[in-house]
Amino acid sequence: MLTTWMTPLSKYRLYIVTAIVIAFLALVGSQMASGATVPVDLMITNGLVVTMDSALTVIEGGSVAVDKGEIVAVGPASAMKDRYVATRTIDAAGKLVMPGLVNSHTHAAMTLFRGLADDLPLDTWLTKHIWPAEAKFITPASVRIGANLALAEMIRSGTTTFSDMYFFADELAQAAKTAGVRGVVGEAVLDFPTPDSKSPQESFAAIEKLAAKWKNDPLIMIAVAPHSPYTCSPETLKSAKKLADTLGLPLIIHVSETRKEVSDITGKYGVPPFKHLDRLDFFGGTVIVAHAVYPTPDEIRLMAEKKVGVAHNPESNMKLASGVAPVPEMLRAGIAVGLGTDGAASNNNLNMFKEMNAAALLQKVSRLEPTAMTARETVTAATIGGAKVLGLEKRIGSLENGKRADLIIIDLNRPHLVPLYDVYSLLVYAANGADVETVFIEGRPVMENRKLLTLDEGSVMREAQKLALKIPILRDSPVVSYKASHE
Ligand SMILES: [Zn+2]
Repeated sequence: MLTTWMTPLSKYRLYIVTAIVIAFLALVGSQMASGATVPVDLMITNGLVVTMDSALTVIEGGSVAVDKGEIVAVGPASAMKDRYVATRTIDAAGKLVMPGLVNSHTHAAMTLFRGLADDLPLDTWLTKHIWPAEAKFITPASVRIGANLALAEMIRSGTTTFSDMYFFADELAQAAKTAGVRGVVGEAVLDFPTPDSKSPQESFAAIEKLAAKWKNDPLIMIAVAPHSPYTCSPETLKSAKKLADTLGLPLIIHVSETRKEVSDITGKYGVPPFKHLDRLDFFGGTVIVAHAVYPTPDEIRLMAEKKVGVAHNPESNMKLASGVAPVPEMLRAGIAVGLGTDGAASNNNLNMFKEMNAAALLQKVSRLEPTAMTARETVTAATIGGAKVLGLEKRIGSLENGKRADLIIIDLNRPHLVPLYDVYSLLVYAANGADVETVFIEGRPVMENRKLLTLDEGSVMREAQKLALKIPILRDSPVVSYKASHE
């Protein structure tokens, strides 16, 4: 019996707890009976609320109530106005309210290399330009500068969560935390020396430290990011998977991006990239795969079975002429597909509105089939689809009770957004990043009326431009040469 083993002190504690619970229930009961109001931190009212829930509910004249960073109610403004009393209220009449966009694959600090080397094949671009520039210029300081530039750009275009693979990951994690942006921050692992590691073992040791430092952070989640099957040996990939399993972290990897990769991997291991990874038991937990341009039908079945999430990067795939990912086939197979910008060196921006537009149009024109990827499917991929890819669908990706308050407000009072027949069509084919007026992440405002609140945008841009002047390859550029000679 309960009392036989309880000390007098623990009995006393039990009485107090019971009394508190009874008092609380009485209070809630009386409030409900009297229709008393519920205090919340924030109410966004009278907006066109695009929830992206499983029924794709859209509420005209809708409200979202937020308390302590959590969405506590979503519904018609008329039903909610007497129920909640907010410390702060935003009137969103004439505005669209939706979940923040999820950029499921990027390399934030590569904003520093925006426009450094364009119009080249992936192989040449990577080995002759990007890797040499990274070897020379990627340091903790430059990653911080590039990350801040990326964060400013992402907030401005409505991205509230990103997934990243790069070096000196702690710099990005800290910058994102300060800017108040949610991120899955992957430390890259390659078989050859990188700007921050001499060997994969060094990268793994760094990841262990990072994981301990950022454990339970509300915004930052560390990831193990082996770059690709062509830059990581089977041993490295196995170790990466083991580390991810041990620490409970997601994996981020580029897979099946180009025909060359598929033929190289098949030539070397006898099977295409996804099968190769499966043989190494790489799949099973949260694996965020970037690209997946050339999976075979067999590999698509495998990806669905192993619950692999795909970050589709249409602009990067178009710019590097890598190919067109079979997104409709992957969606039909039940694979979670999100959208990503990839790094700004192969895009050349981090604007998810442009990515949505490109994703839908690319599928249509490449198949000569206008129904190939609909506006609904595209907005889904950019929100809840991306959240699923990152394993964060219980926390973000839609406006629903209990989810974290990551949301954006779009001003509809603009010529290119009038008239409005279909919200998904508007978002994919007509809207752009600059239409995003206000951004909340974890219930905290990070941009209001186009003003950034957590970053000093002027100094972020100045620092990035100053650093770019030091990159000698850029000296050939007419614009930078001109600026350099006038400063
Ligand atoms: Zn990438």
